[in-house]
Amino acid sequence: MADEKKNVAVFLCRGCDIGAALDIEALEKVAREERSVSVCRSHPFLCGDEGVAQIKESVQSGVTSLVVAACSGRFHSQTFASDSCFVERVNLRELVVWSHEPGNEDTQMLAEDNLRMGMARALKAEMREPAKLAAEPTILVVGGGPSGMAAARDASRAGFRVVLVEKEADLGGWLRTFKRQFPKSAPYRDLESIDLDRQIRELENDPNIQIYRSAAINSISGQPGQFEIELEVNGSAIQTKAGAIVQATGWKPYDASRLGHLGYGRSPDVITNVEMERLSATGKIHRPSDGRPPKRIAFIQCAGSRDQAHLPYCSAVCCRASLKQALWARELDPEVETYIFYKDIRTPAQSEDFYRRAQEDPGISMLKGDVVSVAAADAGSREPLRVNVENTLLGPSIAVEADLVVLATGMVPVAADGEVIRNLRDAKAIINKGEQGPQLDAARQLIADRGHLEGTDLLHLTYRQGPDLPVLNNGFPDSHFICFPYETRRTGIYAAGCMRAPNDIEGCIADAQGAVLKAIQCIELTARGATLHPRWEDRTVPDFQMQRCTQCKRCTEECPFGSLDEDQKGTPLPNPGRCRRCGICLGACPERIISFGDYSIDVISSMIKAVKVPDEFEEKPRLLVLACENDALPALEAAGVARLRYSPFVRVIPVRCLGAVNVIWIADALARGFDGILLLGCKSGDDYQCHFIRGSELMGTRSENIRQKLVQLALEEERVRIEQIALSDYQRLPALIDEFAAQIEEIGLNPFKG
Ligand code: SF4
Ligand code: SF4
Repeated sequence: MADEKKNVAVFLCRGCDIGAALDIEALEKVAREERSVSVCRSHPFLCGDEGVAQIKESVQSGVTSLVVAACSGRFHSQTFASDSCFVERVNLRELVVWSHEPGNEDTQMLAEDNLRMGMARALKAEMREPAKLAAEPTILVVGGGPSGMAAARDASRAGFRVVLVEKEADLGGWLRTFKRQFPKSAPYRDLESIDLDRQIRELENDPNIQIYRSAAINSISGQPGQFEIELEVNGSAIQTKAGAIVQATGWKPYDASRLGHLGYGRSPDVITNVEMERLSATGKIHRPSDGRPPKRIAFIQCAGSRDQAHLPYCSAVCCRASLKQALWARELDPEVETYIFYKDIRTPAQSEDFYRRAQEDPGISMLKGDVVSVAAADAGSREPLRVNVENTLLGPSIAVEADLVVLATGMVPVAADGEVIRNLRDAKAIINKGEQGPQLDAARQLIADRGHLEGTDLLHLTYRQGPDLPVLNNGFPDSHFICFPYETRRTGIYAAGCMRAPNDIEGCIADAQGAVLKAIQCIELTARGATLHPRWEDRTVPDFQMQRCTQCKRCTEECPFGSLDEDQKGTPLPNPGRCRRCGICLGACPERIISFGDYSIDVISSMIKAVKVPDEFEEKPRLLVLACENDALPALEAAGVARLRYSPFVRVIPVRCLGAVNVIWIADALARGFDGILLLGCKSGDDYQCHFIRGSELMGTRSENIRQKLVQLALEEERVRIEQIALSDYQRLPALIDEFAAQIEEIGLNPFKG
């Protein structure tokens, strides 16, 4: 395994119970067996000044790779970091002495194997040049509503140039419609006005901000740091550049024509909250049917919201909007009576004071219940509308008369064309059901025309994977809403405001700040050739040995971040700035021609082969655990911190993602004599915790290849198991491993052993 050019230094820590639980001299002997190891030392606590000084001294004496066998690599990452040599961290603490019996032969064997695997990696890993890109210090902001305006202002204040693109003739978005807003300052009781003109003037007078009104994006090509953008402004094409993009394209109201049971479309006096806003802004509320001022106004909350048949989510602001509109209506006409029918009133934080203010108003009645229908009077009739409510606190059902009904409809993100998404979903259902005739033809045609769209045609990305941001079920684009807010599945493009999640104005402004900070980080990291979350600061990029590429397109199809375009023949065209270094392409490539300096087919295979597998007579099985570094590995380490014990026969190799596991490693492990293989990845699904979107799911689909491999080798399918693990599962993980170990024991040792 020796590489003549390598000069490896191995440092072993004896602190944190390691020295007391393990035979350190025996470990030193293991290290010295490797010819490339020029330095091998142990220290009572390596992370202290003296230990670190010893490491630095050896690095300066020409060491090419450093192996630090101590605690988890997630601790002291900066203490042991080096710019000049490759650093491999071998975990002897959480994965060995804190999770296994001290002074035990099997614990010692585990530690020795971990050291061997670490040395194998140190010998095979290469330090390649990072892909630094000359990054343009400009942020493109798409959308000139409250989020977009705040993003432009904040980016400029942080010293970045801004190109702000708005499709309408004026900035402001919905703020141009809203004349009053619910309170955002103490005592949180009174309606406030909106000073939009001042905000627009600030942007117009800022020399860092270039505003394009009545503008659309024709195309965006390139990658983070180097986006090339063509705009269309008043019929002319304008070229510009940006290092990162903030998309703040806002929201549109839920389509109320789908709420016929609530009277919309059947009576002109049933209107939406947006229409009520416009009516109120005139200073005189009147019934659309006859122009008379209403004496009774009914507000129906959650009109189509929190409803699986319409919008399954809460739009966050509709309750406060109705409270505002009821108070406003009372201010315009103190005689008017208002009724608010609600499932729950949601007024977070200080807005509770605003809610109390509305409760104190004798002209505002709030009734909890389910509005099942709104009965409209015949056309031309002066009869009032009847709001039928069930499950109220007053009785099983009541009917309330009203002259005007306002539906508190929710927000639909403009990032996603809900209609297109719904139609596509329906079309797929038609095909799946096997329907025939014109319906089938129409469904097929729609998918052919629009099937590439998961979002809308807003950004017009010239990406192989489609022109817009992919979205989740409800049309909100996000890359990982638990860990990486604002990030989307297109690197360098950040979502802000109501296109990311329903929000109030204050929330949109805060959101814009978050998205701008991400955009700035993106520009700066791209210039250093480093990536963003979750492999923050990773400077490796996938290298493709194109001469062996068969143009099978697996990598370009499976890359979750749209990093890879392709030429006409299907050869991948990498865009390193878009790459998040997940390694899914490496896992996908059947030709095994994709590699990273420190993560490649050879590196991981060498680690697998470095394990000393006992022969069949020793009756010591060996189980390989390929653990995703995002949740599974931290969960294993957390089990160690909690001093939970599990089988000492497991050998853990961290992988970038379960999607970054190439099936060849399974074959290698079985050929090496491993008795079982456990693949631990993040949870998949739309509420995903998979940090690389689809990696975990892809491993599920690739499992058929694994099954075939096992059949080929005449081995039992149960020898390979895939499990999805959340970080919080650390307490059940030891039992899961032990149960797998027991199952393998029952099946018997791998016949390929030895
Ligand atoms: S490492 Fe991940 S993001 Fe980068 S090209 Fe491969 S699959 Fe795409
Ligand atoms: S998966 Fe491998 S062989 Fe297939 S197109 Fe990508 S690089 Fe080429």
